[in-house]
Amino acid sequence: MEEVGTGLLDRLDAMQRVAASAHGGPMLIVAGPGTGKTRTLTHRIAYLCAELNVNPQRCLAITFTRRAAQELRERLADLLADDADEVTVGTFHALALTLLRAHPRAAGLADGFAIADEAQCAAARAEAGDSAEAYRRALRATHLVDLDELVPLAVAMLERDPRLVREYRDRWVWIFVDEYQDVDADQYALLRLLSPPDGNLYAIGDPDQAIYSFRGADVEYFLRFAHDFTDARQVRLTRNYRSTAPIVAAAVQAIAPTSLVRDRRLDPARLDPDAPLIGRYAAATAAEEAEFVARTVDELVGGLSHRSFDARVDPRAVPAEPLSFGDVAVLYRTDAQSAAIVEALSRANIPVQKRSHNRLRDRPGVAPLARELRLANGGGTVPERLAAAARALAARHTAPTLDGAAAVAPEDVWTAADLLGPLAARHHEDLTGFLTEIATGAEVDALDPRAEAVTLLTLHASKGLEFPVVFLVGCEDGLLPLRLPGDPPSEGAVAEERRLFFVGITRARNRLYVSSAARRFRHGAERETRESPFLAAIDGALLHPLHTLTPRSPRDRQLRLL
Ligand code: ATP
Ligand code: MG
Repeated sequence: MEEVGTGLLDRLDAMQRVAASAHGGPMLIVAGPGTGKTRTLTHRIAYLCAELNVNPQRCLAITFTRRAAQELRERLADLLADDADEVTVGTFHALALTLLRAHPRAAGLADGFAIADEAQCAAARAEAGDSAEAYRRALRATHLVDLDELVPLAVAMLERDPRLVREYRDRWVWIFVDEYQDVDADQYALLRLLSPPDGNLYAIGDPDQAIYSFRGADVEYFLRFAHDFTDARQVRLTRNYRSTAPIVAAAVQAIAPTSLVRDRRLDPARLDPDAPLIGRYAAATAAEEAEFVARTVDELVGGLSHRSFDARVDPRAVPAEPLSFGDVAVLYRTDAQSAAIVEALSRANIPVQKRSHNRLRDRPGVAPLARELRLANGGGTVPERLAAAARALAARHTAPTLDGAAAVAPEDVWTAADLLGPLAARHHEDLTGFLTEIATGAEVDALDPRAEAVTLLTLHASKGLEFPVVFLVGCEDGLLPLRLPGDPPSEGAVAEERRLFFVGITRARNRLYVSSAARRFRHGAERETRESPFLAAIDGALLHPLHTLTPRSPRDRQLRLL
């Protein structure tokens, strides 16, 4: 627990302090990666509550992933103790669901409406043919909504009912949005309804990390913030606290050709004398690239790094700090690339956790279990209630039922109960919060950020995260930037791919490796590849070529076992 009150802002630099302690009104923080946006945001909420006596219940903090929301909650708890629970923290989806559950009728929904799982969506789609309206009708007939409808439904509800707008504007007087560069039209509409033009909307983001336009996000909302909100103030943060100087320099060079930020600056705050360069490995094949990752992880974590390597240039040199598998992430552009990496890491006995975009609800057994939990009365903690619901559901399978459709294989029930166990523990007393997370979350967020395993994730999913060691694999033209067959590359699309590359580089704190394969299996055939043009933007002096795999001797293995 940090001390509340005096010195709350001492752990911020001068500009962060300005950003955290500003008075009310609309405010835009334009800040590059690693400049402490989350830190500033949490300190601002703590400062308002602890020093300016703002009621924490008047604060609403919105993020894009559940994992980010979870992190915000934890950091707030450190700063605010019990008051932190009073702050509403959630994703746009969760926020919309909260609004709709509070007023289902105003939204034109049934009282006990539920979110459709994949099977239910597919059934409704089959029934509806090609028409979106018929699809919605089919869902509503069974009191269901599609996850993607949550935000638009909440917007429509508020637009119809000005009383509700007033109610929520009174309730949440201080609104904070992280990653504002990635809001889409519906999310933006929701924000404009929740916040008056001169309200205390605190938006944080980095246009150069806008990577979700394919999903409807539009960086324009960020760029016109000052126009949309009255007398909006702007603060810039330019000191990067996350990464070593070579990594920051490479990131700045990588984004420069199409940066959306005028006078973009990113200065490394860290001046580690021994910061290694960026490791560059050009493999012959994807399998060899994966082998390189596995070997390097093995050496770094297993303490087998080569003492002869010069720590000032070679990222394979012995780490000054002990590393664990959980410190390492492998980032890739397409999910297809992960198979080779998983295989190589598994062969080397390196534990892996892979983030997937599957919806939690779509895993077998999860939806019926959630339904059972929602309907069952009873008390106890969330883990206790989860166990009881699983027992009831599994028992019902063996008993004859009138409703055959409700039958769930007990095996699926127990698998689902295990999958949800950690989440239930996190929401120990809060069944509603637990059910909301199941309804709105992807599996990606259900994984444990502190697990002792190498994290594998797409560049998109890596947004906002940081790792001591990062491998950015598949740095090839056609993959990064991604190009699909018959898909002419537009300038805008390539610029977005470049931002994705920028996001990837800036996840690394201490060591970064960029790799490519000269031949890769894509679109049904093994093809020759060319190096990613994005790499060419980085000064060669920042890259340390790693020519060969370091030989692994039987002695190394033995040493490790000792
Ligand atoms: P991104 O754009 O990638 O989301 P961000 O701007 O949100 O990055 P944070 O994750 O808040 O950055 O901070 C990056 C790292 O720098 C964190 O480890 C954070 O603790 C650290 N940091 C931020 N500000 C300071 C500071 N003033 N002093 C020391 N460390 C700091
Ligand atoms: Mg952030």
